[in-house]
Amino acid sequence: PKAKTYFKQEIKLDQPLSEVIDIGRRSNYLERLGLYTVRDLLFYYPRDHLDYARQVQITHLEGGETVTVIGTVRSCKCFSSPKNKKLTIFQLVMSDATGRLKLNRFLMGARFAHRGSQERYKRQYPVGSIVAASGLVKQNKYGITLDKPEIEVLDGAGASIESIKIGRLLPVYPLTEGVPADTVRKSVIAALPAAAQLPDPLPKELREVYGLVKLKNAIACIHYPENQEELAHARRRLVFDEFFYLQLGFLQRRQLLKQNQTSATFAPEGKIIQQFDKILPFTLTGAQQRVVGEIFQDLGDSDTPMNRLVQGDVGSGKTIVAVYAILAAIQSGYQAALMAPTEVLAEQHYRKLVEWFNLLHLPVELLTGSTKTAKRREIHSQLQNGELPLLVGTHALIQDPVKFHKLGLAVIDEQHRFGVQQRARLLNKGKSPHVLTMTATPIPRTLALTLHGDLDVSQIDELPPGRQAIDTMMKQGRDRKKVYDLIRREVAQGRQAYIIFPLVEESEKLDLKAATEEHERLSEVIFPEFQIALLHGRMSSADKDASLNSFRDNKCQIIVSTTVIEVGVDVPNATVMVIEHAERFGLSQLHQLRGRVGRGNSKSYCFLMSSTKTIEAKQRLAVLEESQDGFLISEADMRFRGPGAVLGTRQSGLPDFALASLVEDQEVLNLARQAAEKIIAADRLLENHRGDFRDRDREFCPKVKKQKSRRQVRLAPLRGNQRRSWLLFPYCGDRETALPKF
Ligand code: ADP
Ligand code: MG
Repeated sequence: PKAKTYFKQEIKLDQPLSEVIDIGRRSNYLERLGLYTVRDLLFYYPRDHLDYARQVQITHLEGGETVTVIGTVRSCKCFSSPKNKKLTIFQLVMSDATGRLKLNRFLMGARFAHRGSQERYKRQYPVGSIVAASGLVKQNKYGITLDKPEIEVLDGAGASIESIKIGRLLPVYPLTEGVPADTVRKSVIAALPAAAQLPDPLPKELREVYGLVKLKNAIACIHYPENQEELAHARRRLVFDEFFYLQLGFLQRRQLLKQNQTSATFAPEGKIIQQFDKILPFTLTGAQQRVVGEIFQDLGDSDTPMNRLVQGDVGSGKTIVAVYAILAAIQSGYQAALMAPTEVLAEQHYRKLVEWFNLLHLPVELLTGSTKTAKRREIHSQLQNGELPLLVGTHALIQDPVKFHKLGLAVIDEQHRFGVQQRARLLNKGKSPHVLTMTATPIPRTLALTLHGDLDVSQIDELPPGRQAIDTMMKQGRDRKKVYDLIRREVAQGRQAYIIFPLVEESEKLDLKAATEEHERLSEVIFPEFQIALLHGRMSSADKDASLNSFRDNKCQIIVSTTVIEVGVDVPNATVMVIEHAERFGLSQLHQLRGRVGRGNSKSYCFLMSSTKTIEAKQRLAVLEESQDGFLISEADMRFRGPGAVLGTRQSGLPDFALASLVEDQEVLNLARQAAEKIIAADRLLENHRGDFRDRDREFCPKVKKQKSRRQVRLAPLRGNQRRSWLLFPYCGDRETALPKF
């Protein structure tokens, strides 16, 4: 659209909005959206567009579409509603070569109630004139019409449409209460000419290689595109930018880290690993072997410490892979630490490791919040004098008195459960130790690279042989008896079952009560013949251990638990998983829970109990019925709940993207990653690009001054840390803590 031209005002990018003549007073509204300057407004992207660009003939109108119709005005009426004095009805009948269309507008308020104003309103649309009408097609018993139509009189049949609304893609902005949609639309139109002044921080070659439009065109078209194609190009460019700068920052930081560090090298050949190969009761899967190889490669490289994430579906055997890394560290004379998010999990890792380590004649200890003081002291001193090669534990590992003699490797299980700071604290226990992190919420590689920025990623994409698909079924309350019958049958064959209750923070007490009461009901009324254990987070560690151990040793056949059981518990004899209120869990979490069964060689079952009526919840749960693929499930989960909820992006220090979607835009994400990698490969610290990738942010910071009733916006130059230069990590967030100071 053309901006009004009767005032010749050159609009500048860093001009306060209140000084732009065509915006003027509207700037008050815009400030409520956090928009102070022309640049702010230009980078305030619409969240959607209404497609008023599609021109359709009257006979071809179909309900539910947004269209524009062009035709001749046949008649026009404007009158007060007989039922409601305050309501004025405007009726226009138009026709084209194919039919007639009746349009209604309902005008509220006293200002339309007079005969005179109604006449004036009518006169805007003289009979016989050509009009364009846009809106959502509505079909009801009175026939077909447009809902809340926008109507504009054209100069002639072939004349172009001038309105900002009609016949085009109309932007829809994210608004806050009390800010009218048209205010933002009109202000953006006034500001748009300034887009031409935007320099393009991306070098031309890069734009050409990746087929990206210029920034100024992208900005103009993201607001007011001529057609869908233009919009798609604009969006693609801006999404690329969001990903590209982020990746560039990560990669650049990784180079800086590399530059400042060297690391110990661990050789994969050695006596301990040879011995371990012999005692291992199974052979590694191909995927496990590949990942162990990748890890050994990292460990043998003295230039940089390993910083690798191992992704693998539940039960894919990540622990054993970590054990190889741990043994490599130990046989080279270093210590290792293995940190897990819960006591239950740390304890379980410890049990397994003790078995193997005893055969290898190596000591290993467990340190958690409930380790006794005397034991704790002993562990501290053994760690410090280097007698203890491996310590397994929870957050207790990163507490202050814990000092290692020579920490060479830190392994973090279920790493998404830890904050950036906690990870950093573990690393600070050694002198740039190698780091291996593991997660059971697998996501596409580039996504993982983005999320974890400076990590390398390995995937265990193969399950150990002999695993069977778990029969997964959604069940309602009335099917409960059948579920119990199945549990009875399985237990009769010596198997075991889990029954899980959600623990939601807001109502922790209530849920706990539900779990406890249900435990009582099950053990007294439903299954009086069985032993049933109870496990929840409020129990003491000793009681938790007792419960879990009795389940592990098959002394009780059923365990009723809250989600403390979720991560990593490994009881291969269990074959039934019942999850109550399944709709309250995320898909990835349900998948994790389900992964507690199907660990042995017998058929396993998972029942998702839910009485939900909502279609969305049913669709979500259906994903689990149909799939056992962790990748697919986490992606579906991200679509339903957003990546933040699934991956804990808050913790990862990832920014909120304005346009980009981590789920939908993976193709552009891949390209942006490639581009950033290429640039960093040629210019490690971006020294030859000092002039590029700049000019993106505003150089000024708005200061609002209130004088009596007048507000004034002044722009102060940015100072020091307010300035975000691309050369030093655009989005550090919490990650800063893991960085050396420059
Ligand atoms: P996760 O990846 O979920 O942490 P675990 O490491 O706990 O999985 O392994 C799950 C189970 O599979 C364990 O009982 C483990 O001993 C077993 N396992 C791991 N690798 C293999 C393999 N290659 N062959 C057979 N069983 C394996
Ligand atoms: Mg595990």
